Amino acid sequence: MEKFLRISVIRCPHDSFCWKICTRLLSTLQQRSPGIDRLCSELHMIPAIQHDESLHSYIHRVLYLDSMSPASAKLRGVLAFNVDSRAKAAASLMTWPGCYGFNRVLHSHTWYPVFGIFNNGYDRSYSQRRYSPRANCSDIGKKEHAYCPECVKEDFVNLGFPYWRRSHNGDVTVCAKHNVLLVASCHSCGVPFTTTSNNRGHGLEVMWSGCSGKQITEVAVEFNKNPTALKEAKFYSDALDYGYLIPLEATIRLLQRRFKYLKASGKIFTSVVEDGFRAQRLLIDKLDLIQPGHERSFSYDGDRLIKAAIAVYEDFKEFVNDVQFGNNDLRPVQSLWTTYISGGYESIQYIEEDYSSGVGIWSCPYPSIRSLDPSSRDSAKAQRSLKYPCCNPDSLESSGLSASVKAKAAVPKIPILKRFLEEQKTATANL
Ligand SMILES: [Zn+2]
Ligand SMILES: [Zn+2]
Repeated sequence: MEKFLRISVIRCPHDSFCWKICTRLLSTLQQRSPGIDRLCSELHMIPAIQHDESLHSYIHRVLYLDSMSPASAKLRGVLAFNVDSRAKAAASLMTWPGCYGFNRVLHSHTWYPVFGIFNNGYDRSYSQRRYSPRANCSDIGKKEHAYCPECVKEDFVNLGFPYWRRSHNGDVTVCAKHNVLLVASCHSCGVPFTTTSNNRGHGLEVMWSGCSGKQITEVAVEFNKNPTALKEAKFYSDALDYGYLIPLEATIRLLQRRFKYLKASGKIFTSVVEDGFRAQRLLIDKLDLIQPGHERSFSYDGDRLIKAAIAVYEDFKEFVNDVQFGNNDLRPVQSLWTTYISGGYESIQYIEEDYSSGVGIWSCPYPSIRSLDPSSRDSAKAQRSLKYPCCNPDSLESSGLSASVKAKAAVPKIPILKRFLEEQKTATANL
């Protein structure tokens, strides 16, 4: 009863009118626990996602609270799909529009910022092809989850319920805030926590249901004694919270210089770190061969950059101050959230969603002469026809073109949102 009251009142995501109704009704019904959850459901009270809450945590929390609600039905339908489908569904539930909402979920509730904050200066999108209906991108983060007992205790005090954090869902073993070891398996039965409940692990609902009558708060807190583990956790936590784009090429060159300087000063690195810097140097050698005026479009695994930065810097702030030195015009990550790559390989095509007029603006800012080469991917794509269910596919197949492909469902219609820019500023200020 108390759980539903606290959750419902605190998390009502609607305007003050709705909040007042909810509060008044719930306060008069405090003694009548049956039906409270149904009442909340009828008032369309969709749980709000919490700061740093992992996308999986949110989905499983909604399902746990009311498995029969329309919100649960929507999220259950995408559980079997990849993280991009789940992010789109969660964004839609919170009425965050289109590509902007999708990227906001990726940035604030998944491990994606580790990759997304590095930008090669050419890319106009935050998540490249992930929003496109034809995307087939790799998953983000781990299926296994872990929690910090101290964070859970704080959640109970501040919110009345705990949740799984995305900053604990990556390659870390320690809570950056409390310096305690993350709990990665059930203290009652020993199995790990996974996004899917099966005989090899607990589903995430164990956070709220407990295991065999024991709550997760009953675990003993174990303080971390490994300074390197704490440094890594803080580094990743700060990178996930960083709200600006970091220039990719400048970062690689800076890390190389720093690595050489420290080596010359006598610092010893592990063979793994040495190999990482060697691979980066090969990339720089290739970039140096590109003629002035030619494309410098390239990508690099952001996680490898963070690992390299951890090897040569004390903390993320020092690293980012170095790489952004002298740059007084830092670009917020949100500046790319409304744009996605809609197609093209040698000549990449973008769509920018304009919510003030409800249209998508197509652009191909860097057309490449290589697209005309018969061996290019763009040429190969141009030779394939798209089959739309609304057209006559038979005539396409008999047109003599090479194998046709079935068109996938289009992205959602772009809404017209008169006050979107002001709302965006307010919303992202609270990230
Ligand atoms: Zn913690
Ligand atoms: Zn258990």
